[in-house]
Amino acid sequence: MGKGLMVQKFGGSSLANVERIQNVAKRIVSYKKKGYDLVVVVSALGDTTDELIKLANRINPEPSEREMDMLLSTGEQVSVALLAMAIHKLGYEAISFTGIQVGIITDSSHTRARIIKINTDKIKQELNNDKIVIVAGFQGVTFNQDITTLGRGGSDLTAVALAKELNAKECEIYTDVEGIYTTDPRIEPKARKLEAITYDEMLEMASLGAQVMQARSIEVAKKFNVPIHVRSSFSKKSGTMILREVKKMEDVVVSGVTVNKSEAKITVCNVPDRPGIAARIFKELAVHGISVDMIVQNVSHLRQTDISFTVDKIILPKVIKLTKQIAKDIKAGDVLQDEDIARVSIVGVGMKSHPGVAAKMFEALAENRINIEMISTSDISISCIIRKRFAELATRAIHKKFALAK
Ligand code: ADP
Ligand code: ASP
Ligand code: MG
Repeated sequence: MGKGLMVQKFGGSSLANVERIQNVAKRIVSYKKKGYDLVVVVSALGDTTDELIKLANRINPEPSEREMDMLLSTGEQVSVALLAMAIHKLGYEAISFTGIQVGIITDSSHTRARIIKINTDKIKQELNNDKIVIVAGFQGVTFNQDITTLGRGGSDLTAVALAKELNAKECEIYTDVEGIYTTDPRIEPKARKLEAITYDEMLEMASLGAQVMQARSIEVAKKFNVPIHVRSSFSKKSGTMILREVKKMEDVVVSGVTVNKSEAKITVCNVPDRPGIAARIFKELAVHGISVDMIVQNVSHLRQTDISFTVDKIILPKVIKLTKQIAKDIKAGDVLQDEDIARVSIVGVGMKSHPGVAAKMFEALAENRINIEMISTSDISISCIIRKRFAELATRAIHKKFALAK
């Protein structure tokens, strides 16, 4: 009698060279020996996706999104085949599939497609043949047979969606750190590994820059209550569980600190200060599918004001072009761009019931003479925009201020 089905996802860093691929194959086989049925999801090897993006940009700085998906989806196809071969070499049966082959059907929003449904027949059939099934992460296909991708880090989403659809007992995410930490352990070596974290906190941390899990994958996990175990592919230690609820001994006010350097700030100068203008700017951006992060409007002088907002750098050229047109239409002044910013944030569900959390964060920055340029808050997070060169210093200072270290 089998032990049930397990979905295991291995990130690019876990597959960066031949030895690592062999190592991953050994781990998978060890679970097969224990009696698990296995569906394995893999990312592209090492930095393949970044390299492919660079290559595309050298050919055309504004590549078509459809062609981008066609290109990027090749990375994961390499991984599934090599991993299947590595498992065969160990004497076990495995079969690889692309997202298209297993029928991961998505909408047609290229580079950030949403999963509509998954046909699991093919996977189930191969599991019945006692094979280890290896699926390419990050990719899907539209009803029109166009290849799509699920946004950066999208293999996490493939894994969670398959775990849900196949009713897996466990969904393991293998990466190059031992779990979810109080902050990126590469920035603060004293960061502490969390035993468990709630979907809500993980979602907030991921949205605010902790790239260890893709935010959308956590949304899906939360919606369908899929428990996730994030752990290292280089050790046997258990990692961090991501769950609906986590019992903590004491009130933890702040669970983690995140940093995000992938945003840019845009400022529209000398905007006429009258009702309806902000609505006009942001409606126009929304119509073009642009989601804006922080927004700040300065105090008005002489019936004119500056409005600043942040967007993901990837869409900066498009946003600048559009904003310049809007500025002209509403008779505003110059449009300035600034890529030299970083967002540092604190996240914690305990924040709701504790006053003074923001003040403490600002203090940590002040003590290090770091100027705050923009601030935004949610129920369970506070973010500050600062100069990019202070990102690491700020992260460590805030981490220390809230006593998050081991
Ligand atoms: P993979 O290739 O496995 O998908 P990623 O690079 O996407 O790996 O994510 C793992 C990285 O996330 C880690 O190497 C770490 O530097 C970074 N990271 C950022 N914030 C955190 C955090 N709070 N806890 C753990 N890792 C984090
Ligand atoms: N290879 C894709 C990326 O780098 C998907 C993933 O790694 O999850 O974004
Ligand atoms: Mg990742």
